[in-house]
This record gives sequence, C-alpha cells and structure tokens, in this order.
Amino acid sequence: MAKIQAIRGMNDILPEQTPVWQYVESTIRRVLGQYGYQEIRMPVVESTDLFKRSIGEVTDIVEKEMYTFDDRNGDSLTLRPEGTAGCVRAAEEHGLLFNQTRRLWYTGPMFRHERPQKGRYRQFHQIGVECFGMAGPDIDAELLILTARLWSAFGLDGHTRLEINSIGTSEARKVYRQALVDYLDQYRDQLDEDSKRRLSSNPLRILDSKNPDTRKLLEGAPSLDDYLDEASRAHFEQLKALLDAAGVTYSVNPALVRGLDYYGKTVFEWITDSLGAQGTVCAGGRYDGLVEQLGGKPTDAVGFAMGLERLILLLETLGLVPAHVNNDADVYVTAMGEMAISASMAIAEELRNGLPGKVVVAHCGGGSFKSQMKKADRSGARYAVILGENELASGNVGLKPLRDDQPQLDVARAELVQVLTDKL
Ligand code: ATP
Ligand code: MG
Repeated sequence: MAKIQAIRGMNDILPEQTPVWQYVESTIRRVLGQYGYQEIRMPVVESTDLFKRSIGEVTDIVEKEMYTFDDRNGDSLTLRPEGTAGCVRAAEEHGLLFNQTRRLWYTGPMFRHERPQKGRYRQFHQIGVECFGMAGPDIDAELLILTARLWSAFGLDGHTRLEINSIGTSEARKVYRQALVDYLDQYRDQLDEDSKRRLSSNPLRILDSKNPDTRKLLEGAPSLDDYLDEASRAHFEQLKALLDAAGVTYSVNPALVRGLDYYGKTVFEWITDSLGAQGTVCAGGRYDGLVEQLGGKPTDAVGFAMGLERLILLLETLGLVPAHVNNDADVYVTAMGEMAISASMAIAEELRNGLPGKVVVAHCGGGSFKSQMKKADRSGARYAVILGENELASGNVGLKPLRDDQPQLDVARAELVQVLTDKL
C-alpha cells in the first residue's frame, strides 16, 4: 500500500534539527524577557472574518493564501496565516488593552498556501511581538534595538540590514493613492494581471508587486514620501534620531510598503543577502488603526514577526550554530548481564542527581558489550560507565573515555559523581 506522506510545504522538524530550534527559541525568549515582554498563546484557528477584516480583502494572504474551511456547524474558520490579528482579538477579548500598555510576544506555526521553496513553506513558524498603548516613536525604536540585540546574540552582526520607511496616516495614503493611480493608469496595458485588478481595488498593493515589468514601471511612479503628513514625518524623524543615538544602522527605503492593510506610519524589514529571494527575516510596523477596526477602542500599536525557518537557514548557511547545540549525551551507562540492569539504572539516577546539567543516557534493550559500546559512541557521550558482573562484585565501575585515547579507569561507585564532575 502506498505510504501517506506529509503535506507539501509542511515540514517535519526531526530530532537532528530540534536542538537548533530550541537554541533559537530560547535565545529569543531570553532577550524578550530582558525587555519585559510577556508571552501570550493563541489558538491556531480563528474565524475567517478576523483575517479578512484585519489583513484586508485585497491582499495576497486573504485572496489566495489562506487555509479556510467550514467547521462542522458551518462556521468559516481559517488556520492563522499570521499572529497579529489573533493577538489583537485575544488582547481585546480579555481586556488587556484598556488604559494600559502591553508588550506581548507569541510563537507558533502559521499557514499560507504559497508555492513551497527554500525559505517559503505552507506551514512555517514565527515569533511575533506586539506592543499596545504606546504611540511611539520610542517603542518603535525599542523594537528595532531589541532585534539588533538578537542579531548580535546570534553572531549575525553585519549579516542583516534594516530598512525603514513611513507610510503615513491613512488620510495621507488616500491622497497618494490617487496620484499613484493617475500615474499607473497611463500604463494599464503593461501591468501584470494582479496589479491591473488592484489598480481599482487597492493600488498601494501594486508597490509590493514582485513582477519585474511592473517593478520597472514603478521606478517612475510618484513617491509616497512626498505625500507624508506632518505628524508622520515628525514621528519618522524622531525614530531615525533614536536609532542613530542607539547605534542601530538603517537605510530608508521609500518603496517599502508591507503587504498588509493594517500598517501605518513606521514600517520596517530586516533583510539578509545570504538567502536569495526569501531574504526578509523579520518585518513589522505600526498599526494604530487595527484595534478599532476590529471593534475595540482606538489603541496605538506596533509589532513585528520573525520567520524562524529563515532565521535558522541563515544561521546554518553562515555556519553560526554554536558547537554545543546538539543532541549529544555526556555519560552513557551500560549494563552487561541481567544482574547489572537494576544497579545501572540506580547509578544513572545517582548521576542525574549529582550532575543536574548533564545528559545521562542509560542503556536499555540489552545486547553484547560491543553493541552497547557502539551505542555509547553514537550517543555522543564523552564517558561510558561500564557495569558487568565483575564490577557488581567489586563495588567499582569502569569509566571509559570515549573521545580520547585515555585508558579506562576503575572508580568506586561512591566517587563516580565527583570524578565525573571534575572531568565534564
Ligand atoms: P514575503 O514577502 O517573503 O512573502 P511577507 O511580507 O508575506 O513575506 P510577513 O507576513 O511580514 O511576510 O511575515 C513575517 C515574516 O515571516 C517574513 O519576513 C518571513 O520571515 C516569514 N514568512 C512569511 N511567509 C513565510 C513562508 N511562507 N514561509 C516561511 N517564512 C515566511
Ligand atoms: Mg508573503
């Protein structure tokens, strides 16, 4: 019978890969903790309307990337394509936003029906950060300073660059939108199909087009920068000054818009040149209008999402995964013969008590001395504890170094913890 396989674009993360995931997640968790950010966990499924109303009907995500299905009672549900909408929904639903500031983060799988390729999957993982109740630009700067610290923690200094832009208020964008439409209308025939459609429905999205011919036309288009409102311009100038003062390097990219409807004022992307076309590892911006758009009180908000697959690919590509990030055991405890099994399990427990930070693997499943030593070697352990009938009788154990040519030692069981403490 044909074997059933994983869904295309949805990856298993195998035991060989989980150490690097744990390393990345724990590093991010630690840094976010340093800044006082609190974790929130949301369901992976939300009502379809939530995404339509927040991300925008005329976006790639809502138009063609969502996994939407009818629940058994007929409600339309969607596997979350991103975390901001659900985070706002949850924060609002539980009264986390009223009259207070919040710094939240979450992590987990997101789902988008895209063409799978390197750095682009149908199930992928993000760490997202959302801050509420702060108008910025101080909090905008904090997010970028925080991400810069993260890159440093990963040894990525110089491998990511920051692009920022201001897309102004929705009123300013309205005026600009008209100017853009007037310009692109002259070249209607030369636009790609998506862009043609968007010319009437959501022309700003065209700036996001990846079609090379459309991109060429856009070179001569009016610039959003010239249409910015005074408040947004001042906000942006202050943000730049804060980044300068903090030593965070950036470049202003006037063409940076972001593909989701809810952004306004500050938008940014951290980009790497080491991953080809899928080079954006982290992206975000302000979305002061979203909470109200979803039925809450007007609430200032800013956030970002980081793609974990891309970040991990980047670390692996650059050889930046530290050597200690692996599944290696420290000690492997063997047991030769029926009689030794119970003693070896007790010894393994003693070692776990005495060496709490170390990985102690107890051999299970029997087998010859040779096969047990082979498994000990494969576990990555630096030492094997050898326990057979002779050792049982003598009250000592054999301690065999596995990673160098040192001879095997005979160690009293009572001293084993101390000896290994000194060696490991
Ligand atoms: P892109 O332009 O590459 O499609 P996006 O603008 O759709 O990205 P966002 O919605 O801003 O991406 O998501 C934030 C981050 O999540 C991205 O910068 C990227 O690192 C990651 N990401 C987005 N879509 C995918 C995907 N399909 N597979 C893997 N990572 C993704
Ligand atoms: Mg996308």
